[in-house]
Amino acid sequence: MDRISFLKSLAALPLMSSINKLSDLHKAIEPLETSSILMPSLFIGHGSPMNAIELNEFSLQWQKLGKELPKPKMILCISAHWETKGTFVTATPKPETIHDFGGFPQALFDVQYPAPGSKEWANEAKNTITSTTVGLDETWGLDHGTWSILKHVYPNADIPVLQLSIDYTKDAAYHYALAKELSDLRSKGVLIIGSGNIVHNLGMVDWSKLKVPEYGYDWAIEANTKVKKFISEGNHTDLINYGKQGKAFNLAIPSAEHYLPLIYILALQNKNESASFFNDKAVMGSLTMTSVKIG
Ligand code: ZN
Repeated sequence: MDRISFLKSLAALPLMSSINKLSDLHKAIEPLETSSILMPSLFIGHGSPMNAIELNEFSLQWQKLGKELPKPKMILCISAHWETKGTFVTATPKPETIHDFGGFPQALFDVQYPAPGSKEWANEAKNTITSTTVGLDETWGLDHGTWSILKHVYPNADIPVLQLSIDYTKDAAYHYALAKELSDLRSKGVLIIGSGNIVHNLGMVDWSKLKVPEYGYDWAIEANTKVKKFISEGNHTDLINYGKQGKAFNLAIPSAEHYLPLIYILALQNKNESASFFNDKAVMGSLTMTSVKIG
């Protein structure tokens, strides 16, 4: 029963005979109020790990998100940087901050994001997915796809954070279907974040444009614009079939791992929910930071 029907049925009760004290009424409505909050879902373009320690227009936007979003009970992140055979969810009580990169300043290696994990939430996520067996993982922690963003969004690191791995043996249609099974978590106060990049071709990065605030090759802009158009139209089919969208898409998505987190977030979109964009910029030619908020 949704809240409105509940309130209607409540009004129909003769003289509210069964709920005659205000505190009882409160008690009766409270659980509904909790469950009626549907957490938004986010796809975030994470870009360079340096965004973790730099204050720039992207990381400032992440800070703004943290102030605007309802405080989640748990954060479940699908990061481009955790690929496995099969699907796993992190289940350690104190996930390690993984510095899964090389060649960056020591200050980046010094970053810790000590958010707790949660065995209970790991089991909840595992049990939510029934189409495959989700493994509980005690080896992975939080990779930079997760902490470089969350360090800005929730700097206090006081909300449990879990990661769900990406099964690299499966195609986008499989991931889309799997992600749909996660949707119940949204009404339980879980913020689901996909962390990747829509356009992500590291081999073609123009490093001379490192300090240029916005720079994208024609094909990068073309692919980014087309992805946004499909999202705005609710056309998830063509986004799942990204390999059939022509040359610009092939250059923008040379491998799936940074793109698939977007597929997870789109799968969570309900029919009546809007999608909005932020950090919609190309950098260094072949990357876009374009991010999507559902709900
Ligand atoms: Zn990445």
